[in-house]
Amino acid sequence: MINTALKKTASMLVAATDGETSMIRVKNVCFGGKQIPVIAGPCAIENEDNLRETAFKVRAAGAVMLRGGAYKPRTSPYSFQGHGRSGLQCLARVGEEMNMPVITELMDGEDLDAVMEYSDIIQIGARNMYNYSLLRKLGKINKPVVLKRGLSATIEEWLLAAEYILAGGNKQVILCERGIRSAETWTRNTLDLNAVALVKQLSHLPVIVDPSHGTGVRSLVGPMSMAAVAAGADGLMIEVHPRPETALSDGEQSLTPRGFSQLMRQLEALVAVMGRRVR
Ligand code: PEP
Ligand code: MN
Repeated sequence: MINTALKKTASMLVAATDGETSMIRVKNVCFGGKQIPVIAGPCAIENEDNLRETAFKVRAAGAVMLRGGAYKPRTSPYSFQGHGRSGLQCLARVGEEMNMPVITELMDGEDLDAVMEYSDIIQIGARNMYNYSLLRKLGKINKPVVLKRGLSATIEEWLLAAEYILAGGNKQVILCERGIRSAETWTRNTLDLNAVALVKQLSHLPVIVDPSHGTGVRSLVGPMSMAAVAAGADGLMIEVHPRPETALSDGEQSLTPRGFSQLMRQLEALVAVMGRRVR
């Protein structure tokens, strides 16, 4: 299996060359080097006060980048869909105030200019990993892209989706493992840490892990964050909400700022043993 995948990707732009991971820099943050940046923030940008409170607390705990969705891919069309452009503006304001680069999801090509204007990294969600016309558009921009693995995507399909962006000329791609569908129902997804270790061997691209969507369960986010780092992840993306019980989306998998802070202390100790750092 591994050999087949290697053969197919070996001649491609995503393929590993000399065993080194490419470094992707965003302001004071670097993915793919000694740093293991932790991105934190709410699932969705709900209002500016909540976002500011979250940003302040996660930054104090050691997060170096702020996340928050303005365009939300919800399973039900009746669920909160995000605040759109005003959400983007809010994210950019709070990020600037806190001196944290920001990341947000782009769902539709027609919002590309707006997301380019307000976000430091463009996130492509699991549901759009197969949107090849969108991936081609991202190949033409000069901004880092976090490409999440599709809900049921094979590693091969995921790497080929990254190849679409690289082939267009944009070399700044960070892969994000966020769990895949399996037979299991206790968890929302099955976080595939095989994929993290394997993709690090197959490709030079940095790989980050989202244990929030990868588990869907707050109490599993900490253990799987630690496991992801041990497996070689180059970063983490973690959902944090000041009052998860009131969250408009994904409250059940969001850490409280206090829980996040405790996790960061554990991560700091672990990454130090590995000769890496979170800040
Ligand atoms: C998210 O990060 O908020 C999100 C919707 O993730 P995914 O695309 O992995 O489901
Ligand atoms: Mn979410």
